[in-house]
Amino acid sequence: MTYELDHQDIREGVSKLCLGFPGEYWQKCDREQAYPTEFVQALTQGGYLSALIPEEYGGLGLPLSAGAAILEEIHRAGGNAGACHAQMYTMGTILRHGSDAQKKQYLPSISDGSLRLQAFGVTEPTSGTDTTALRTTAKRSGDHYIVNGQKIWTSRAEHSDLLLLLARTTPREEVTKKTDGLSVFLIDMREFVGKSLTIRPIRTMMNHSTTELFFDDMKIPASSLIGEEGKGFRNILSGMNAERVLISAECIGDAKWFIEKASSYACERNIFQRPIGQNQGVQFPIARAYSQMRAAELMLAQAVALYDAGGNPGEEANLAKLLSSEASWAAAEVCIQTFGGFGFAEEYDIERKFREARLYQVAPISTNLVLSYVAEHVLGLPRSY
Ligand SMILES: Cc1cc2nc3c(=O)[nH]c(=O)nc-3n(C[C@H](O)[C@H](O)[C@H](O)COP(=O)(O)OP(=O)(O)OC[C@H]3O[C@@H](n4cnc5c(N)ncnc54)[C@H](O)[C@@H]3O)c2cc1C
Repeated sequence: MTYELDHQDIREGVSKLCLGFPGEYWQKCDREQAYPTEFVQALTQGGYLSALIPEEYGGLGLPLSAGAAILEEIHRAGGNAGACHAQMYTMGTILRHGSDAQKKQYLPSISDGSLRLQAFGVTEPTSGTDTTALRTTAKRSGDHYIVNGQKIWTSRAEHSDLLLLLARTTPREEVTKKTDGLSVFLIDMREFVGKSLTIRPIRTMMNHSTTELFFDDMKIPASSLIGEEGKGFRNILSGMNAERVLISAECIGDAKWFIEKASSYACERNIFQRPIGQNQGVQFPIARAYSQMRAAELMLAQAVALYDAGGNPGEEANLAKLLSSEASWAAAEVCIQTFGGFGFAEEYDIERKFREARLYQVAPISTNLVLSYVAEHVLGLPRSY
C-alpha cells in the first residue's frame, strides 16, 4: 500500500500553495473568527476543490485518494480545510443521485468555483445523531415544496450559494421504515436568505463558520429534489464513507503536523544543558503518537484503496475515521506537553490546532456512533438503538 507516496505532484503543489498561508494568516482568521477567503480562492483557482468531479463536468476527475492527499497536505502544513472541504465532496450526492439535467446545471459551476456548494443541512437541535427523527418538513404544493423547520451546525452556510438539505416529505408515522420519507434537496439559498431563510452564526471554540438555519415557509421549486422522493436518507448515506475517508486524511495531516513540531522542538529546546528530547520521558510519548498515527494511516490507506477500486467500504472508512481522529488528538496532547508553556502561546499555532483537532471525535460523526456501527455491522452484535 503506497497511500502516503501517491499523488506526489498534488501533494507538492498543495504544500507549495500552503506556504503562502503561514501561521500568522490562520491566527488572524482564528482571532477574528473570519472566513479564510483568500486561502479558499487559491485552492479553487488551483483546481484542487474540483478534484473529484468528473472531467466531463469540468473537474479533474481524480480518485478519492487524490482528495485525501489534498486535504491531508493542507492539515500537515498547519492549515485547516474545514473552511472548504465540503466543496470537494458534497457534490457527490448530485453526481450519484441527481438527474442528467441537474448534473449539467450544477457540476460545471461547482467545478470552476462560480457556485459554492459548501453547506450540508442534516443535523437538528432536537434529533442530533438520530437523523430519522429530524423535524424539518418539505410539503409538496403543486410545482413547489414548502420547507419549514430548523437545522443546527450547518457549517459554511454564509459562504455557500447552495445548500444540500435533508427534510421529511412523509411523516414518520406514515412510513413503515423510519429511514423512509426523508428527501434530499439542492437549494439555491441566495433568493431566500433574509426572507424565508434565516442564517444565524454560532461562535465555537475554533474558527469553523458554523450556523443555525431557520426555514419559514421557504418555497422551493419541485426540481430541487435530488433522486427519488422519500429515499433521501439512503442517498445521503451513500456519501458518508467518502466523507469519513477524507476527514480521516485531515486527521492524519494534523497528527503529522503535531508530531513534526514536537520532534523538532524536542531537539532544539535545551533545559538542564541538554535537549529535552534526550529524555525518554519526552521521546516516548512522541514515538507512541507516531506509532498510533502510522497505524491509523494504514487503515486509511486500505479504505482509500478499496474505495478507489470501486467499493464503498463501510468498515474501513469508519475505522479509519475512528483511529485517525484518536491519533490526531493523541499527537495534539503530546505536542502541547512537549512545548510546555509555549504550547499555549498563540504564535506557535499549537493551541489553535489543539482546539481544531478535538472536533473530529464528535463531527461529522461521534466516536460512539462509529463503535456502534462496528459492533452491529461488523461484529454482528445486537442493535442498541
Ligand atoms: C463544528 C461543527 C460542525 C458541524 N457541521 C455540520 C454540518 O455542516 N452539517 C450537519 O448536518 N451537521 C454538522 N455538525 C453536526 C455533527 O454532525 C453532530 O454534532 C454530531 O453528529 C453529533 O450529534 P449531536 O451534536 O447532536 O450529539 P448527540 O446526538 O446529542 O449526542 C451527544 C453524545 O451522546 C452520544 N450518543 C448519542 N446517542 C448514542 C447512542 N445511541 N449510543 C452511544 N452514544 C450515543 C454521542 O456519541 C455524543 O457523544 C457539526 C458539528 C459541529 C460541532
